Amino acid sequence: MDLTLLPPEIAEAHQRFACSVAASADLDSLMRLKGEFTGREASHASRMMDVLKTAPKEQKRELGAVINALKNEWEEALKNRQIELEAAKKSAASLATSWDPDLPPPLPVHGAIHPLNRLMDRLVDVFRPLGYHVEEGPETETEANNFDGLNIPEDHPARGSADTFYFSAHAGKLLRTHTSPVQVRVLQRIAPDIEKLGGIRFLAPGRVYRKDEIDPTHSPMFHQVEGMLVGHGIGMHHLKGTLSYAMKALFGPAADVRFRPSYFPFVEPGCEVDVRCPLCGGSGCRVCKGSGWVEILGAGLVHPNVLKFAGIDPTVWSGFAFGMGVERTAMMVSQTPDLRLFFENDQRFLKAMGGLD
Ligand SMILES: [Zn+2]
Repeated sequence: MDLTLLPPEIAEAHQRFACSVAASADLDSLMRLKGEFTGREASHASRMMDVLKTAPKEQKRELGAVINALKNEWEEALKNRQIELEAAKKSAASLATSWDPDLPPPLPVHGAIHPLNRLMDRLVDVFRPLGYHVEEGPETETEANNFDGLNIPEDHPARGSADTFYFSAHAGKLLRTHTSPVQVRVLQRIAPDIEKLGGIRFLAPGRVYRKDEIDPTHSPMFHQVEGMLVGHGIGMHHLKGTLSYAMKALFGPAADVRFRPSYFPFVEPGCEVDVRCPLCGGSGCRVCKGSGWVEILGAGLVHPNVLKFAGIDPTVWSGFAFGMGVERTAMMVSQTPDLRLFFENDQRFLKAMGGLD
């Protein structure tokens, strides 16, 4: 085919025609290409007809043959591409609406107990056979219950506005910084009947708040489990026996437990309870920071001032109390490096923690 008989811009357009057809990804762009080449007006085809009209007589025959051949080639290629694109569009549409009424419906994701709640439930299960029941208290507390009733003096840093969320519109109200105010509430409630009851033992799991920036090891909201026993002649031997039993129930019968002296305002004496690192068995690892021991509980004998504040005579009654940080223990046991994972509800994390099927 002798394209030199045609104006150069039409010859050039024909050179890129095959590419343009292949590059038309949808029917709209193909229709635009069709208009450009074979449209009735202002197309390459209509321009070729104008050229033919004004061509010298002796060229007309040859030129006419070239023009016809080009037009046929264009029309055929455009038609084939249109069939292809229409077929693709149809199959995409049928795929989108494909629905088989015989298939069972997709199963909804089953909810499950959150890993933190499971750990708290486990602790409650450990203490229930020992006669402990669950007590709860409000997360909005009075300054008296959160601090004064627990022998936390006026100048203690925990009372500072930098560490605690106070309600500015309600004087003396705050978000509790620990579950210990439940001790105050329960002791005050049972004080009149304590002789009849012969004492009390309970666990208080719940949410607590501190004015901390959120980072891998801090959160302004976290969980604690508090435990308390009050009776006659309660001493460190009762505390040690009870907590050794609980740690073995939690970490296995071979769990090694140690008690270290420590200070908390609401107990005297106070101690911290460590368990031999369940991950390395005591040889030292990243989780136990090489010491072979991990701190699980703060505990101690109930301070006489705490009993006195609640209206219970500390010369007649005595007891012990303990508290555990739930996130801290969960992170340690599961080797989770970032506390925030527990609050982000990422199903992949919850699944890995065994919380979802
Ligand atoms: Zn270790």
